[in-house]
Amino acid sequence: MRFSALTLARNALSFHEKWPQLWRSPEPQPRYDVIVVGGGGHGLATAYYLAKEHGIHNVAVIEKGWLGGGNTGRNTTVVRSNYFYPESALIYDLSLRLYEGLSREIGFNVMLSQRGLVTLAHSTHQLEMLVRWHNAMRLNGIDGELLSVAEVRRWLPLLNAAPTARYPVKGALLQRRGGVARHDAVAWGYARAADALGVDIIQNCEVNGFLREGDRIVGVETSRGRIRAPKIALAVAGHSSVLAAKAGFRLPITSYALQAYVTEPLKPVLSCVALSMSTGTYVSQSDKGELVTGGALDLYPSYAQRGNLPTLQGIVAGLVELFPSFSRLRMLRQWAGIVDVVHDSSPIIDRAPVRGVYLNCGWGTGGFKAIPGGGFTLAHLLATDRQHPAAAGFTLRRFATGALIDEGAAAGISH
Ligand SMILES: Cc1cc2nc3c(=O)[nH]c(=O)nc-3n(C[C@H](O)[C@H](O)[C@H](O)COP(=O)(O)OP(=O)(O)OC[C@H]3O[C@@H](n4cnc5c(N)ncnc54)[C@H](O)[C@@H]3O)c2cc1C
Repeated sequence: MRFSALTLARNALSFHEKWPQLWRSPEPQPRYDVIVVGGGGHGLATAYYLAKEHGIHNVAVIEKGWLGGGNTGRNTTVVRSNYFYPESALIYDLSLRLYEGLSREIGFNVMLSQRGLVTLAHSTHQLEMLVRWHNAMRLNGIDGELLSVAEVRRWLPLLNAAPTARYPVKGALLQRRGGVARHDAVAWGYARAADALGVDIIQNCEVNGFLREGDRIVGVETSRGRIRAPKIALAVAGHSSVLAAKAGFRLPITSYALQAYVTEPLKPVLSCVALSMSTGTYVSQSDKGELVTGGALDLYPSYAQRGNLPTLQGIVAGLVELFPSFSRLRMLRQWAGIVDVVHDSSPIIDRAPVRGVYLNCGWGTGGFKAIPGGGFTLAHLLATDRQHPAAAGFTLRRFATGALIDEGAAAGISH
C-alpha cells in the first residue's frame, strides 16, 4: 500500500480502523541467507538495502524487544554531516543524502526537517576550532557557513548573546542541511519497506548464543529456537560487546547511558538545532512544540537504561545559561539509551574476527544520522564481501595500526 490523500480519505471513512499492518509478524524459519541481529535503524536499514540493492531477500531481522525500542527510538533525532575527517564526511554525507530521498523512496514520511544546525563558539579558541573545522568541511565538499555574532542572534533570538553572558557568543558554524528527522518513522519506514521486499522481521526474539561449525559461526541460538545462516550481522549498539563475547571475540567498545529530556510544549521558539561547544548541551524544538535537549554521556560505563539527577542538572544548567527564558519550563520526560562508544568516536563496519559474523557498531552518541549510510554500507559488505568505499576507514584494523579517526577530538561528537 502506498500512502496518499486518497488512502487517507478512504481510511477516515472507516474511522481509521482498517489500516493494514505495516509489516508481517512471521514465525522464524530454520534457515536464512543472512540474519541481522538488532531491529534498530541500522539493522532494519541493512536488511532493506540487502533486498533492494543486492537482491538478497531471504533475510531475517531478529529483535529481542520491539522495533526501534533501543537507541533508535530514544535519540534526539539530530542529523548532520559536518564532520572533520574525509572518512567521516564520506559516510555521514552518504547517509544524509540517503535521508534526503528516503521518504519518497520508501513511501513513508520520516519527517526530515533540514532546519539548520548551529554550533556555537564561546571563546576565541573555540572560534579558531570552528574555522579549522569549517575549512575541513569545505575540503570534504560538505556545506557549511561561519556565522557572525549578529547572524547568530538572527538564527537564535532567545539566545543570551550578551558580552557579559557566562558563555558569550563569538560566532558559530552553520550546516543548513543539518536538522532532525522522526526517529520512530525511520525504524517503521525501513521495516515496512524491508518487509515488502520479503524480509522477515521477528520481534520478541532474543539472540542468546551462536552455533558454530569449526572456526565458523553458522547460526544463532534464540529464545525462539535455532536459526541458521552463513552470514550474521550484529547491529545491536550498546550490546555489541555482550554478543561479541558470546561469539568469542572482544570489541574496543564501552557501553554508557546517554540521556535526553523533553520539556512541556511551547509555541515555536526555536527554528534550528543549537549546540554549545562549551557545555555540550544541544536543543531543538519538536513538531509537537516540546524542547528536546541532551548533552554528554554519563561518566561511568553502564547497562542501566535509566537517568540520574547529576546529568540532568548539568544539561539543564547548560541550557538555561544559553537561553535564560527556558528556565520557566517544566521538564516532562527523561530517558536513557545504552550507546556503544569507541575511543575515537567513529563506527566499526567490518567483518568480525570470527568467520561468518559482520559488524555495524561503535556509533556511540551519534548513529541516528548514520542509519541509512550504516545500513547501506553493511549491506554492501554482506553481499559482496568487499568494504564499501564510504566505509573504507571504519574497519577494526585501525585499532591495530593506530590510524584512528578521532572525531571526538576533532569536531566534537554531540550527536
Ligand atoms: C539519548 C540519546 C540521544 C541520541 N541522540 C542522537 C542524535 O540526536 N543524533 C544521532 O545521530 N544519534 C543520536 N543518538 C545515537 C543513536 O540513537 C544511535 O547511535 C543509533 O540509534 C544506533 O542505532 P542502532 O540500530 O545501531 O541501535 P539500536 O537502535 O539500539 O538497535 C539495536 C537493537 O538491538 C537489539 N538487541 C540487543 N541485543 C539483542 C539480542 N541479544 N538479541 C536480539 N536483539 C538484540 C536491541 O533491543 C535494539 O533494538 C542518541 C542516543 C541516545 C541514547
